[in-house]
Amino acid sequence: MADIQRRKTVTASIAGVRVGSDAPIVVQSMTNTDTADVPSTVRQVASLARAGSELVRVTVNNDEAAAAVPRIVDELDQQGINVPIIGDFHYNGHILLIKYPECARALAKYRINPGNVSVGRKDDSNFRTMVEVALKNQKPVRIGVNWGSLDQALLTRMMDENSRLPEPKEARDVTMEAMIVSALNSAAIAEKYGLRPDQIILSAKVSGVQDLIDVYRALAARCDYPLHLGLTEAGMGAKGIVASSAALGVLLQEGIGDTIRVSLTPAPGGDRSEEVRVAQQILQSLGIRSFSPQVTACPGCGRTTSTFFQEMAEQIQGYLREQMPIWKDRYTGVEEMKVAVMGCVVNGPGESKHASLGISLPGTFEEPKAPVYVDGRLFTTLKGDRIVAEFIHILDNYVESHYAAKVEATAD
Ligand code: SF4
Repeated sequence: MADIQRRKTVTASIAGVRVGSDAPIVVQSMTNTDTADVPSTVRQVASLARAGSELVRVTVNNDEAAAAVPRIVDELDQQGINVPIIGDFHYNGHILLIKYPECARALAKYRINPGNVSVGRKDDSNFRTMVEVALKNQKPVRIGVNWGSLDQALLTRMMDENSRLPEPKEARDVTMEAMIVSALNSAAIAEKYGLRPDQIILSAKVSGVQDLIDVYRALAARCDYPLHLGLTEAGMGAKGIVASSAALGVLLQEGIGDTIRVSLTPAPGGDRSEEVRVAQQILQSLGIRSFSPQVTACPGCGRTTSTFFQEMAEQIQGYLREQMPIWKDRYTGVEEMKVAVMGCVVNGPGESKHASLGISLPGTFEEPKAPVYVDGRLFTTLKGDRIVAEFIHILDNYVESHYAAKVEATAD
């Protein structure tokens, strides 16, 4: 694992999932179903949890959603899915949490947006009510500032103050500062009303990569609350993945960020779990956590006229993804395995030797044989049209022989 000095924070616990300081950086996600639709929400939470989401947030926006939350948690429980469920509240959280005490109890954490409750105002009873419910149920909160819903009264005041300075700052810098002030002031007020520092997580999300880096660096320097990290409204496809990876990569490398979410917009009918896989891949690419065996595949070039090696890389990646839920319960450390699938003799043998297990497929005009390397040594050479099946067989044997079987817990 990479030797990254994490920023020191207090450690929060969200229904047993530790967030902060030396705890592993936690991957979280959010559903996009109507929370009131219990079967659909349960299905999506289950799918996110199976993909590896360690916390899942659901929107709690109206009476129907609040009433549905305990049923969702019960149903998940019956299916043996114990992922903590976080409630995302805006505007009316103070009403819903009081009106639906079962919902308040069933949720593992409440997200409060200081931009749309009364925090900072003379009468901050809405914010206070949410904090009091959190206290009563001993739940942590995330004070989640978002520049799209930043406290406008605070921003206007800070802009006015800035304009009176002899050398006013850029409006962008004042906005970033207002986000930090909003988060820190809200946390201080939450503490004044009784929450402990280890019951508070902060976030300050923006949609620009450089803005996110600046705002989190500043926030991290000014508090020791755990930080929820994510680029808001990252967008679709490659843009969302690359922008999130660029922003989170820089901050995580600096030890900033205790839980992450990648806010991808799925394509219509797309798989919501993609955001979980991307978050895991960011952490794994940085050498911070391992989740699943990695496949190194060359991009292919003019030396490979067939798509055989691309298909093989995809089949092996798919096989690993399918097997991981079984393997990770059965074998210790299997997520550290590295598999190389290479297209020709130029880099094939070299890259394969660096992997736990590698295959170098024949390029155009090369002899039709594929050497397989195990732990850096030539193990065998495969030929014919059963190369994929035979390589997968070698892969299965490798997992069984290299990773210790986990001991199953037995009842006393
Ligand atoms: S390993 Fe061979 S096929 Fe793959 S990119 Fe390099 S030269 Fe091209």
